[in-house]
Amino acid sequence: MNDTLTKDGIIAFLSSLAVKMRVAGPVRDAKVTEYRAAPPEAFSFGDGVSYKSPKEFYFPQTEKMISFRGGKAIAEEAPVPAAVFAARVCDLEALRVMREVFLSGRYKDPFFERRLEKNLIIGMACVSKKPGCFCDDLGFDMKFSDFCDMMLEPAGEDSFKVTGLSEKGAAALWEYARVKIECDNSRRALTSKPALRLNKQTRETEIFGMIDWEDMLSACQGCGMCTYICPTCHCFEFKDVSEGEATSRYRCWDSCMYPRFTLHASGHNPRAATSERYRQRALHKYLYVMQNTGMVACTGCGRCVRSCPAGINIKKIVEALMEAGA
Ligand code: SF4
Ligand code: SF4
Repeated sequence: MNDTLTKDGIIAFLSSLAVKMRVAGPVRDAKVTEYRAAPPEAFSFGDGVSYKSPKEFYFPQTEKMISFRGGKAIAEEAPVPAAVFAARVCDLEALRVMREVFLSGRYKDPFFERRLEKNLIIGMACVSKKPGCFCDDLGFDMKFSDFCDMMLEPAGEDSFKVTGLSEKGAAALWEYARVKIECDNSRRALTSKPALRLNKQTRETEIFGMIDWEDMLSACQGCGMCTYICPTCHCFEFKDVSEGEATSRYRCWDSCMYPRFTLHASGHNPRAATSERYRQRALHKYLYVMQNTGMVACTGCGRCVRSCPAGINIKKIVEALMEAGA
């Protein structure tokens, strides 16, 4: 279907979903815009980019996975599904990368899988490119991604063109207003070959010597913020916590930018320097995931570029590597 909905119509649609699931969207406060579960009237319909991506509705920052009580393991219940409103193309394409990582290998992550299956995600086209964004360098059309249930595109004042992309999206709209949408699966987000990419045949040991990593990354503070706000970063650790009679195992986001991330029990740390850790971050996104899945694990959202307190710019680092022949 290609149809339009007004802003009020979208709020009414989201309110109808809120009866059976959490509904999250971009909420703007005095400082930042963030995806939060909130009444739909609170959602921003503006063209801004959120500080953090909506990835935590698929891969929460902290999540209980299992508890042990009286010698028995109690699996956690299935998470309550969420409808995520106004996810941008960079964040939708990041979920595509996460699907590869969590579901395409030998071991599948049932937590991520359940959310991908049950959540409803509504994409929102960007009208303009913001400072720091470079999704176009990765070949994406900032106005469209098919990795969602329906895509909205601003079409005049308070009016949005709706493109249906899944049966789940079609069923939700039908249930709300008996509006039937035919799914249009002819468009894709990736419209051209990424201009910003490394040759996946390049050997890691060559890349290590191609640029002066230490010099380029001398300002990095190792704060880890770039990993926490990145829509594709997916490293985690487990923590076991005593809770009365039970012990629970939590999965928590981790960051390759922290010195203890690779610290061995022997005391040896293969990535002791901050520059080595950032090198890992950049190569993981532009080389290792590419070698494993054929996808670049950076969608050019620009969040790490905009928010880094030291002005580190991943795009410039990849460009330097490309110039050096990687
Ligand atoms: S690159 Fe920037 S945001 Fe990332 S750890 Fe270093 S200082 Fe922090
Ligand atoms: S590496 Fe930076 S620009 Fe790329 S997806 Fe992550 S936060 Fe966005």
